[in-house]
Amino acid sequence: MDRSPLYDTFARAPVSFVRGEGCWLETDDGRRMLDFSSGVAVNSLGHAHPKLAAVLSEQAGKLWHVSNLYRIPEQERLARLLCDATFAEKVFFANSGAEAVECAIKTARRYQFVSGHPERTGIITFAGAFHGRTLATLAATGNPKYLEGFGPTPEGFDQVPLGDLKAVEAAITAETAAIMIEPIQGEGGIRLVSGRFLRDLRELADRLGLLLVFDEVQTGIGRTGKLFAYEWSGVTPDIMTSAKGIGSGFPLGACLATAEAAKGMTPGTHGSTFGGNPLACAVGAAVVEIVKAPEFLEHVRSMGLYLKQQLAAVVDDHPDLVAEVRGEGLHIGVRCIVPVGDVAAAMRYQDLLGVAAGENVIRLIPPLIVTRAEIDEAVGRFDRALAALSTAKPG
Ligand SMILES: *Cc1c(COP(=O)(O)O)cnc(C)c1O
Repeated sequence: MDRSPLYDTFARAPVSFVRGEGCWLETDDGRRMLDFSSGVAVNSLGHAHPKLAAVLSEQAGKLWHVSNLYRIPEQERLARLLCDATFAEKVFFANSGAEAVECAIKTARRYQFVSGHPERTGIITFAGAFHGRTLATLAATGNPKYLEGFGPTPEGFDQVPLGDLKAVEAAITAETAAIMIEPIQGEGGIRLVSGRFLRDLRELADRLGLLLVFDEVQTGIGRTGKLFAYEWSGVTPDIMTSAKGIGSGFPLGACLATAEAAKGMTPGTHGSTFGGNPLACAVGAAVVEIVKAPEFLEHVRSMGLYLKQQLAAVVDDHPDLVAEVRGEGLHIGVRCIVPVGDVAAAMRYQDLLGVAAGENVIRLIPPLIVTRAEIDEAVGRFDRALAALSTAKPG
């Protein structure tokens, strides 16, 4: 393992998979594991979804890539779908969440620039946020652990405590361009933000001529039981990012905006070689078509509620190990008392996958197609994992 030709940036679990179907993954040594990690909230429709496999192979036989030098009907179709289903009027396609956020930052600054406020470049973000791993999105993330040793941190990002309106007001200066927030912090540990706080930010942004940016890379595409999480609050952003679940495993990111917010993004101001190619957009459109259906979103909400209820009972039974269930839809976390890494390992031992997050939280984020029987199975395995930890615990 220590002779790996790969960068050592990931602490990988000692398991690898050869195939997947729905919520299940098969390892190279024949174990069947229940996937409540979804490749970190990516496999929205699970593994090897027949419709997506068909769309992907059909498009693969036709056309993969042409570049953005030409019109791409698949891209226009996906953009139309997204705009029809949201507040947005304009979309830029990229290949990842970080790139989508990078586009959101550029769009916000450029809006101020063409609106006669070139001095407004600052973006206010929140402690515990995660916006990506490029240099600018790391500066927005603001976690010193991720920034150490990577040279000068790009300027123009100010972090304030989540939910603290006074701190936001105090951080705003004549040079502020925008406020950027995840409607629910994902990597930070499924930290919920009140609708009230989002409404206050909207009001503040409107009053001061700032743009409001929602990073929905993790919360979007049905994860919380609405197509996008902002719908829960009724607060509409000016700019919004999407990625993770939008391709259900095919790399794709998007930055959505109102026409007004995107007015500075004129020809030549931004670009991407791969972003929004026919292959990615054909898959993305198939995903969005399926997820945006009201019955599908209703399924996510009812499965989410069921998972939360079942988990709450398990948490009650293990008060020495776990403390709280939180989240919306199928974007659920359990805050642990024992180290989350131990819980994740114990779950793996029961052939159940989850994902660790901040605040010592284990995320249970299954594919959105998860069934009630699979939730019962997962909760049973989670309970057994905790029971095993309990016996292993000294004293
Ligand atoms: C995962 C994530 C990102 C970064 O996405 P990548 O595809 O890894 O670049 C950005 N913002 C949020 C909210 C995320 O959860």
